[in-house]
Amino acid sequence: MLQSVANPHTVCRSMLNSTSSDASQGCLYVVATPIGNLNDITSHAIDTLKQVDIIACEDTRTSGKLLSNFGIDTQTWAYHEHNSAVQTPKLIEMLQTGKRIALISDAGTPLVSDPGYQLVQAAHEADVSVSPVVGACAAIAALSVAGLPSDKFSFIGFLPAKTHGRVKQLEALKGRQETLIFYEAPHRIVASVTDMTQVFGAQRAVTLCRELTKTFETVHKTTLGELAEFVADDPNQQKGEIVLVVAGNTANADDDPSQHDVLLLRLLEDLPIKKAARLASDITGIKKNALYERTLVITGD
Ligand code: SAM
Repeated sequence: MLQSVANPHTVCRSMLNSTSSDASQGCLYVVATPIGNLNDITSHAIDTLKQVDIIACEDTRTSGKLLSNFGIDTQTWAYHEHNSAVQTPKLIEMLQTGKRIALISDAGTPLVSDPGYQLVQAAHEADVSVSPVVGACAAIAALSVAGLPSDKFSFIGFLPAKTHGRVKQLEALKGRQETLIFYEAPHRIVASVTDMTQVFGAQRAVTLCRELTKTFETVHKTTLGELAEFVADDPNQQKGEIVLVVAGNTANADDDPSQHDVLLLRLLEDLPIKKAARLASDITGIKKNALYERTLVITGD
C-alpha cells in the first residue's frame, strides 16, 4: 500500500526531489543495480545515483562502467569488505552532516552476499535514515522462475569452499522443509551438486538458474542426480553466475520410522521384533509394518 504519512523514508525521498538542503537530514540509499541486463536498472535508481552526494561502490571500476552508461557522474568511494572498518565511520560522519549517500554493489542488491551490512547497521545506530531503492536480486529472480514451492524459502548464499565444510552444512540443511536458495561459483558447481546429491538424495528436485537476464541464460529444472551429470557433462554449464534452488525435504518427518530408533532399540531389549514394532506403532502412530522393517535394519537381521 502506498503511504503518504511522514516517516523517515518519506523524509529521505522528499529530500532527493527537493533543492533545499536541510543540513540535519542525511540519508543512506541502498540501491539495487542490474544482475546482467542493464535495462533492469530502475529510473528511481538512476535518479537517486545522479542526485546523491557520494556513491559508495563495492568496486569503483566495475560500477564506473554502469554509471557512465547512464550518464551518472556522481563522486564514487570504494566500499568493500577490506576497507569497511575504515570507511564506515567516515561515511556515517558525512551522513550526519546532511550528505546523501548511495550504496551499490557490483550487481544486484547490496548486502545480499555483498558488502554493506556494517554501514547500514552503523547508520541505524547513528539514527540516520536508510532507504531502499529496490531492484534486481539473483536469489529472488531464481526463485521466481524455479518452479519450486515459493511460500517458504531460505536464502543460504554460498556454501563453504572445501568439501568437509560444505558437506557439514548440507547435513545440517538436509531435513529443512522449505525451498533452499544457494549461490555457487562456476568452478565449484560440479563438486557442490555432487555433494548435494549425496546428502539430500538423487531424487530431490532442483532448478539450475545460470546467467539470469544475460545472453546464455539457463533455467533447468530437474533432480539433483540428473543435474550432477548435466553439469559434469557440459563445460558450458560450469561457466558464468549460478543460483541453485533446491526443493525442501518434503518427506513427512513425522512418518519417518528412523526418528524412533531409540524407542525401538529399547523395546527390543525386552520384546521380540513383532511385539516391539506393534507397541512402537501404538506409541508413535507410525504404521506397524514400517517400524517392523526398521527394526530389521537397525538390528541387521
Ligand atoms: N548481491 C547480489 C544479488 O543481489 O543477487 C549477489 C552478489 S554475489 C557476490 C554473486 C552471486 O550471485 C553469483 O556468484 C551468483 O551465485 C549470483 N548471481 C549474480 N548474478 C547472477 C545472474 N545473472 N544469474 C545467476 N546468478 C547470479
